[in-house]
Amino acid sequence: MNSIKIPSGIKVFNKIADFRQWRRSILMDNKTLGYVPTMGALHQGHLALVSSAKKQCDHVALSIFVNPAQFAPTEDLHTYPRTLQEDLDKLSGLGEGVASAVLVPQVEEMYPAGINLDVSKQKGTFVEVLGLSHQLEGITRPNFFRGVATVVSKFINIVQPEHIYFGQKDIQQCFVIRDMIRDLHFPTQMHICPTVRDSNGLALSSRNAYLIPSQKKYALALSQSLRHMEKLYKAGENNATELVKTGTDIIEKAKKEVEQLNEGWSMRIDYISINSGNGLKELKDNIPREDGCVISMAVFVGTTRLIDNICLDVKELEQ
Ligand code: AMP
Repeated sequence: MNSIKIPSGIKVFNKIADFRQWRRSILMDNKTLGYVPTMGALHQGHLALVSSAKKQCDHVALSIFVNPAQFAPTEDLHTYPRTLQEDLDKLSGLGEGVASAVLVPQVEEMYPAGINLDVSKQKGTFVEVLGLSHQLEGITRPNFFRGVATVVSKFINIVQPEHIYFGQKDIQQCFVIRDMIRDLHFPTQMHICPTVRDSNGLALSSRNAYLIPSQKKYALALSQSLRHMEKLYKAGENNATELVKTGTDIIEKAKKEVEQLNEGWSMRIDYISINSGNGLKELKDNIPREDGCVISMAVFVGTTRLIDNICLDVKELEQ
């Protein structure tokens, strides 16, 4: 941390008590605070959340924290990109006074009882949002949303923001946090911002840094598949199973091409699923257009697991 050069105009806090003192001064000034939780390795998707927050709030704070509780023991906690200096420089590049503060807490302070990645050995307090956490992402990552809900609760308590900002890129996370804020009566208004994509349509993600160029090219199959399903849905196709089948065909075609390259990597669908827009119940037959739907997928491109989604006619994403 000592070697980090902090851009002028941004306050960086490592201690929760110091952040809280700054937060109190914002309150005393009668100014509003918007908050963007992140795990760092910031890209334009994160920066768009910061810009949205700044449009609505006097001050914007971010947290940069790679949250151990949302990683399984087999996942990439230790290799997850950590790029604090670049992150601060990108925030500074948004302009003077856009991001006011960044909280970069220590794991030990966030998890006073310690944090074991093996859930059966964990101690302390955890938050679980039942009904939304065990489908889709929750099948492959059964404790992921427990980790997310827990850390976001901690941060809302610490930051006490009037507004909090999330990306549609992680759509199930948006549903989970929306219900958590409602159920735990956090006095915070949630906002969901559209997925930021590169010019080819690939959803920006910190994990894209793991992709070699040919993987980046074939990763485009995710957004192409989603766009194709969207087109059919808009043309009147209403059967969820049929839509998933056409979306699957596009990924499978890309996978065949990859295997012909003989580069020693392949693609594998984890899931492609259509779920109701009001509770993420999996749809197999008719899509009730009055509720809308979420079409989402997770696909391994090599060893990197990418996710993407589109929301069709979902009215209730904002509180
Ligand atoms: P992460 O650092 O991956 O935990 O993401 C922090 C926040 O940025 C979450 O609310 C994500 O949904 C959001 N985010 C990540 N990628 C994108 C993107 N491509 N477009 C919009 N928001 C994003």
